[in-house]
Amino acid sequence: MTFFDLLAQYPPAFVASAFILGLIVGSFLNVLIHRLPTMLERDWQAEARQILSLPAAPEQPRYNLMFPPSECPHCAHRIRAWENLPLISYLFLRGRCSSCKSTISPRYPLIELASAGLTAFIAWHFGFGWAALSVMLLSWGLLAMSLIDADHQLLPDVLVLPLLWLGLIVNAFGLFVPLQEAIWGAVAGYLCLWSVSWVYKLITGRDGMGQGDFKLLAMLGAWGGWQILPLTVLMSSLVGAVLGLLLLRLSNRDTSTQIPFGPYLAIAGWIALLWGGQITTSYLQLSGLR
Ligand SMILES: [Zn+2]
Repeated sequence: MTFFDLLAQYPPAFVASAFILGLIVGSFLNVLIHRLPTMLERDWQAEARQILSLPAAPEQPRYNLMFPPSECPHCAHRIRAWENLPLISYLFLRGRCSSCKSTISPRYPLIELASAGLTAFIAWHFGFGWAALSVMLLSWGLLAMSLIDADHQLLPDVLVLPLLWLGLIVNAFGLFVPLQEAIWGAVAGYLCLWSVSWVYKLITGRDGMGQGDFKLLAMLGAWGGWQILPLTVLMSSLVGAVLGLLLLRLSNRDTSTQIPFGPYLAIAGWIALLWGGQITTSYLQLSGLR
């Protein structure tokens, strides 16, 4: 009996392995969320200089997902391997740097825990197989892009577009919906937000939504088909409006402040992909339409 047979035949083993995998991936997501925006910014500045025929910026130290190794932002203490174990190190170090004792943001272990929880839940929901594996990839991507959007109001193409293609590819094998519904999902997802934003701009003269949001909804449509779009847009607008107004109240910012919409779209789309059919059916039953 191989390890994969064990995972397939014994669901608790699959859920437990998924939890550990989620912790490890979560630790990588922390690096991605922290470094990707800076890497993109550097690329864009270099490109802009080239287009404007400006001299190239002075050589900057190498900066990517692998390099430089993580260090404490307060004392530059190099994080050693045993201090970099997801969740465990944070608990063991009691949330403090081993060298200067300054507090480590609880955000890092929380993201690791969120990733582990999501991954384990997906393993339990789908059982061992391609559906679980592909939704795990999708969920890690959505988690990373939601946090990057919340921090920087940016939904990086390098995360959104590959997942859009992957959605079409898995549905070419009919994993969630027939390919035709997935293609129309991607097209309609993009067009519906694009047209809303176009009308908004005509009326107010302002950009209300980023292009990243159109691409994100196209990506969700590629996974769940056009069927999940109405529910996704409805849920994300409701949650976005309520939370957005609350945040504006709390932070005393004026209403023209841009609120990142990506995290709401991501959460709503994920829920619609997993339970869209059931939610719509029970809504229609409750309202007496079916
Ligand atoms: Zn330190």
